[in-house]
Amino acid sequence: MSKLNLNKTWNYATATESTNHILLKEKYDLFINGEFVKSNSKKYFDTINPATDEVIAKIAEANKKDIDLAVKSARRAFRSWSKLKAKERGKYIFRIARMIQERAKEFAIIESMDGGKPIRESRDVDIPLAANHFFYYAGWSDKLDCAFPNQNPKPLGVAGQIIPWNFPLLMAAWKIAPAIACGNTVVLKPAETTSLTALKLAEIIQESGLPKGVVNIVTGAGNTGAEIVNHPDIDKIAFTGSTNVGKLIQKSIAGTKKKSTLELGGKGANIIFEDSAIDQAVEGIINAIFFNQGHVCCAGSRLFVQESIADIVIKKLKERISSLIVGNPLDKNTDIGAINSKEQLATINKYIKIGQEEGGEIYQPKCSISKKGNWCPPTLFLNVSQSHTVVQEEIFGPVLAIQTFRTIDEVIEKANNTPFGLSAGVWTEKGSKIFKLTQELNAGVVWANTYNKFDPTSPFGGFKESGFGREGGLHGLKAYLKFE
Ligand code: NDP
Repeated sequence: MSKLNLNKTWNYATATESTNHILLKEKYDLFINGEFVKSNSKKYFDTINPATDEVIAKIAEANKKDIDLAVKSARRAFRSWSKLKAKERGKYIFRIARMIQERAKEFAIIESMDGGKPIRESRDVDIPLAANHFFYYAGWSDKLDCAFPNQNPKPLGVAGQIIPWNFPLLMAAWKIAPAIACGNTVVLKPAETTSLTALKLAEIIQESGLPKGVVNIVTGAGNTGAEIVNHPDIDKIAFTGSTNVGKLIQKSIAGTKKKSTLELGGKGANIIFEDSAIDQAVEGIINAIFFNQGHVCCAGSRLFVQESIADIVIKKLKERISSLIVGNPLDKNTDIGAINSKEQLATINKYIKIGQEEGGEIYQPKCSISKKGNWCPPTLFLNVSQSHTVVQEEIFGPVLAIQTFRTIDEVIEKANNTPFGLSAGVWTEKGSKIFKLTQELNAGVVWANTYNKFDPTSPFGGFKESGFGREGGLHGLKAYLKFE
């Protein structure tokens, strides 16, 4: 029987999303007290399309004075927002959710242009989930007493929120929606390389009529984030980002009354047992590591395959990654888009080099990629062990380290042998194995026979160096409340 070779015989016609209707300003200013205002630094930095190296817009850089203005505006707004009838708060948040839905296509295109992720993902995952977070928390606004009966929940005050570049709008939604639903006000800083959709969200917030100062969005790099962390009138820091910066933040706020939640890095174990449905598991492996170019804190970047099925799984995996389309994020056929920045590409390439130098066997399919932009083909590392750097450290790119195991106890021990504790996946037909692993894996989220599934009702967060606190669900509300 002749073999069906999708690579050689089938070429997809390009299906590029048009950007003609996308209106971007040349310069974006800070969103403070309900208005777009120039920064006191008078400086702007470029935001670049990582697939083309083109400058898409200039973004204002906020300095200490700007952060002070933003915090003061949030504090003023807190006095009335926290006293507003909860039902009224909910109405504003519902309105924001609906407006994101109405402009979903525009947001998806900008997210892909600014961050490099495939349009299929920004269209089907990032933007709908961001809207869903606003819907979900809007619904809780007037039910906090039911969520936490007899505990008299009260908002904390002004929350400083700092987010990374991998899910820009979604992370903004994760942070803003529960905070304001509880009656807090916020100062949010998006990541330097992906500020655009947060600023577009600011446009929606302005249009929605949300009282001025409830949400302030300030842009800039790490220094701007540090100014938020160190501002004396902040009540809570909600941070998502790297473990190193998380540790710096912990040190900065030690001894203050600031509360904190830290969502940090990960090195998720994806475990495939011999009784799993192998073809589904192979798709699960692909989704776990190559979703969003592997720029995912909970990516299944360590694969553990039971020895008896290792050969067939690796063969199928190699075949499957050879059919993945790496390229233009705006093409609806694309599976793996552009690496978010030159710096991140250099980090990934550094790890690939280390992996080879330490004796790992590398497999990368041939991909034809553009000379412009930042690209990394899907990469497998075989013949690696627990001590290899590519197994231990978070790469945050499309690089999968593959190991085998024989027994369930062995794989639990190997999977837990990491400083992180964010996520894991288990593939087996046996419910009893799933229950054993979900109890014994030291991970905040464990998926069974699926991976990278997110829902606003479900709490998300980690243990150990993956941070503490939960976002999503009721747990996500609790992080923005005090109980009297
Ligand atoms: P970083 O920690 O470098 O940055 C995160 C945010 O913090 C950015 O807005 C950054 O600004 C800002 N920042 C940098 N330095 C400081 C500082 N000293 N004080 C305050 N803020 C600062 O992480 P990345 O942006 O590189 O994101 C990738 C990391 O995020 C990965 O480790 C990933 O695992 C983690 N992550 C965790 C998630 C979770 O839920 N657990 C979800 C998503 C990502 P700027 O970028 O502008 O310099």
